[in-house]
Amino acid sequence: PAHDRLLGGLLADGVDERSCHSRYQSAMYRRRAGRQPSPYLVSKLRRHEALQRRCGPGTAAYSHAQEQLRSGKNHAAGTGSPECKYLVSISYRGLGNRILAAASAFLYAVLTDRVLLVDPSNEMGELFCEPFPGTTWVLPPDFPLTSYTNFSIETAESHANMVKNKVISPVDVGAVSSARELPAFAYIHLDHDATGEDKQFYCDEDQSVLRDIRWLVMRTDSYIVPGLFLVMAFQEELGMLFPEPDTVFHHLGRYLFHPSNHVWGLIARYHDAYLAAADQRVGIQVRVFGSAPNSPELLEQITTCAQKEGLLPELLAEGLPAATTPPPAPSRRRSKAVLVTSLKAWYYDKLKGMYWERATVTGEAVGVHQPSHEEYQHFGARSHDTKAWAEIYLLSLTDVLVTSGFSTFGYVAQGLGGLTPWVMFKPDNGSVVPNPPCGRDVSMEPCFHAPPFYDCRIKQGADTGKIVPQVQHCKDVSWGLKLV
Ligand code: GDP
Repeated sequence: PAHDRLLGGLLADGVDERSCHSRYQSAMYRRRAGRQPSPYLVSKLRRHEALQRRCGPGTAAYSHAQEQLRSGKNHAAGTGSPECKYLVSISYRGLGNRILAAASAFLYAVLTDRVLLVDPSNEMGELFCEPFPGTTWVLPPDFPLTSYTNFSIETAESHANMVKNKVISPVDVGAVSSARELPAFAYIHLDHDATGEDKQFYCDEDQSVLRDIRWLVMRTDSYIVPGLFLVMAFQEELGMLFPEPDTVFHHLGRYLFHPSNHVWGLIARYHDAYLAAADQRVGIQVRVFGSAPNSPELLEQITTCAQKEGLLPELLAEGLPAATTPPPAPSRRRSKAVLVTSLKAWYYDKLKGMYWERATVTGEAVGVHQPSHEEYQHFGARSHDTKAWAEIYLLSLTDVLVTSGFSTFGYVAQGLGGLTPWVMFKPDNGSVVPNPPCGRDVSMEPCFHAPPFYDCRIKQGADTGKIVPQVQHCKDVSWGLKLV
């Protein structure tokens, strides 16, 4: 098939290919074309790229805004909204969390015409290519708020604390914010421990005051996008950008996250050696938390899920096939490549043994592969994140995907690949195999694990999975929200 290297206009042309091999090569590695972005999204992205270039690091506008931040003042009162406003996104926790946080921050930046700058902590600058042509999205080291990576729920400049202390006050939609001077920046705390006050961020009144603050610093480890769909002021624009709401991360992820050349080498070599020749590629993500022992029940959950759903062939009883049914000639035998990702090697080892020691009922040849087994989750170790990123990406290149519920690692893979996964739910009691062992997810979107439980219009607690039709509860995390 002819490969559309620009993904339906999602990517701007003209970036030097040597600086980022994956940017234009990745389309060749995907068998399915992926969903088409709306023409409105495409034109909005081009305009946003122009904003990033006009206001980003290295420009006079950036130096000026940085000076203002250093001086502790917001833009001069009465001049209205400044041309260049900024959103700094803090990068912390696992790679899946960091990718979802950056994608969320990007969408918020697009909706509010802010320049997105990502905190370079945890290799964010090394794992990915620059997404915006002709400028950088990496926050420069001379950022005036030197302790921003320590901002927490306690920070006095958090939006919630400033509302509580009446430094800022949420304004009714349509009203002009009070003449009182606004602070030079606000910190948006949307970590998993965010309080109800922090989550007033998802209300229109709070957005009206934040709109006029030049610098925002955001901390989240979640995919907050379903929360943005609850803000009425954003709904019309979101509807135009994403006529298919279940594709938001699919588009944002493919737009923003291009593996850097080193990581792309790992991906391309592994793909070519183990996945390219197979008729079908099956991805299985086995997320093992903490020091959980190898679990025969989880192994059984994986195999029954994959076999019941027709993703992997069943096996003949030991000793078969009988001598009377010769196996098909190798040239006509269909092949499947199974890509297992896990911190442990045990599940892969068992699966591989099963498909070697016994024949499949369909006669298919099944090869089982796992790129690495890092044993436990490291923090801040470079080669560890490089492998994690390569494996997330390789999972996204498969044709069908089985994931472990609750895991942002799997969410990123499914979104990039445009795959609605079969999700293995965590059993309540680890010693029994859940029945059914897995279920088809409602969409390929990530789940938002820390949503608000408040309806801003009626100013009281509410089921936020019932406010707008596109935002519903997740199957794997019952209190979570996702786009469908
Ligand atoms: P989550 O914790 O499952 O939501 O996913 P995250 O990606 O945010 O954090 C888990 C981290 O553990 C990853 O970033 C990796 O560093 C590591 N990890 C977990 N599973 C795997 C795996 O299958 N392969 C590799 N290479 N690393 C993994």
